[in-house]
Amino acid sequence: MTNDNRPGDAPVAVLGLGLMGHALAAALLRAGHPTTVFNRTPAKADDLVAAGARRAATPAEAVAAAPLVIACVTDYDALRTLLDPVDPAAFGGRTLLNLTSGTSAQARDTAAWAAGRGAAYLDGGIMANPSGIGTAEATIVVSGARAEFDRHAPALRALAADLAYLGDDQGRTALYEMAVVGLMWSILNGWLQGAALLGTAGVPADAYTAVAGKGIATVTAWLPGYAKQIDAGVFPGDDATLDIHRASMAHLVQESESLGVNAEFPALIKSLADRAAAAGHGGEGYAVMIEEFRRPAAPTQT
Ligand code: NAP
Repeated sequence: MTNDNRPGDAPVAVLGLGLMGHALAAALLRAGHPTTVFNRTPAKADDLVAAGARRAATPAEAVAAAPLVIACVTDYDALRTLLDPVDPAAFGGRTLLNLTSGTSAQARDTAAWAAGRGAAYLDGGIMANPSGIGTAEATIVVSGARAEFDRHAPALRALAADLAYLGDDQGRTALYEMAVVGLMWSILNGWLQGAALLGTAGVPADAYTAVAGKGIATVTAWLPGYAKQIDAGVFPGDDATLDIHRASMAHLVQESESLGVNAEFPALIKSLADRAAAAGHGGEGYAVMIEEFRRPAAPTQT
């Protein structure tokens, strides 16, 4: 078995051929990696095998086939269902790259599980949908030992042109993933709220979307400055105060309610800002809201 870092030479095993795992295996094959595949439902491997992949009959066969074992299944329960029955000795000297989504604690537990079997563990997060895998659109973030990341970077580049190494702590990838999906849902929900509002005036979502994109770009440009404020713990209200934001939030809630549009999302945002103002931060800048996100929700009043 070789792994000399020449693109396309290193054998790779892929466990899990759902939408994402199948795309990963296909990209590795396209890049010329000898690719062994396993899936609980074997038929999902058929087209990959026709394209040159080797079918493993069991997870153990897949683990034995390559120094780099990539796993991408629904969740950590599914991962352990696949890997627990494999002879622990089979993992010796292997690197398990886990692209299954989960929490930072699950990633760190699985790193310890792998270490107990003599395997290195890299935790990866995919920031793309399956059709983006193997293209310039895909980003994969990875944490774990730097030497392992470097060793397997050529195979990873077959999956995503944009690779980011996040450091030794295997839990960090999951935290980044959570942060980015949280951002994604906040943007999508804000956009949907706007589409619902404009829809009441007969404006199609398509017409509103270009304006929404400009708004997202404007807010994106604020982030570096606000990040500096968060890191310094100082929040000057020199662009717009939280109280001014709260007044706009009240308009959004009022407009939504009067038009019969769901107002829960803006009302939630306003309730967080109201709490920050009640704590004396109304004259500071928006980034002072970090304090509301740093602690659990206030107990519900009874
Ligand atoms: P999916 O299409 O639903 O595939 C799930 C995979 O997990 C299948 O291979 C399935 O096997 C396997 N599986 C589930 N339960 C199992 C069990 N108990 N034992 C063995 N195998 C089991 O999901 P996906 O979209 O590929 O997502 C896989 C992972 O990638 C998830 O953690 C997801 O969060 C992450 N991800 C996905 C995307 C995306 O756009 N799809 C993007 C980023 C990250 P069967 O085929 O036999 O059911």
